[in-house]
Amino acid sequence: MSVINLSAKSKPLEELLKTSGNIIKIGIDLDGCAVDTNPMILYQANEMYYFDNNKKYSKYDKKIREGLGRPLRVDDIIRFRYDECTPLSKEEVDEIFKVFAEEKKFLSLNPMPYAVDIINRLQEFYDEYFMTARPGNVEEQTIGWFENSGIRNYENKLTFNGNKLEIAKTDNISKFIEDRAETALELAENNINVLLLNYPWNNDPKQELIQKINKHPKIERIYNSPMAYWPNIEEKLIK
Ligand SMILES: [Mg+2]
Repeated sequence: MSVINLSAKSKPLEELLKTSGNIIKIGIDLDGCAVDTNPMILYQANEMYYFDNNKKYSKYDKKIREGLGRPLRVDDIIRFRYDECTPLSKEEVDEIFKVFAEEKKFLSLNPMPYAVDIINRLQEFYDEYFMTARPGNVEEQTIGWFENSGIRNYENKLTFNGNKLEIAKTDNISKFIEDRAETALELAENNINVLLLNYPWNNDPKQELIQKINKHPKIERIYNSPMAYWPNIEEKLIK
């Protein structure tokens, strides 16, 4: 005869998670997830290739005639790669990131709205790992960003330029917050639950990859409405 413990059953998820010894490990991507990267990269792009940010034409004003005729905006970014959705060439995009790194601008990126507080609050229930495809040459700036961010317990939990799937498997990570479609699908196909922050670059239903994502039971989209992404993530994870 089985005895159903009604009091345990009716415990809110929040309580159960607290008693589980923080064993649920979650991976958190940086750019586009914890960090609001695009606005500053685009500011840099406009400074170098479109307008300078005092609204004067830059020395690259030829690009304006060939291109959009106006500075780039966040909503122009509908593909993961800038050279696929703006008039910028791959070389120009590389140059933008090179200058961005040289001028140590990774240090002054903004966190996504509410991300810092919620990342800290989630630590009561989850063991968090931060993972980025940023190259090793910006490691110091990225650590500096964490130091100034107010995010707690990131030390020894930050990896660069590695294969997220391999790291997730090695560290037994069972959930992942990600915005890149290819990475999300790869993680999901390996049984990792993905919270996919919904962006134009991961939501073009004409692409086969996106059709697979939209059907995958391990991938759940997180929208930036009616609340922002992070309050919606928090609600999914602890409410
Ligand atoms: Mg990302």
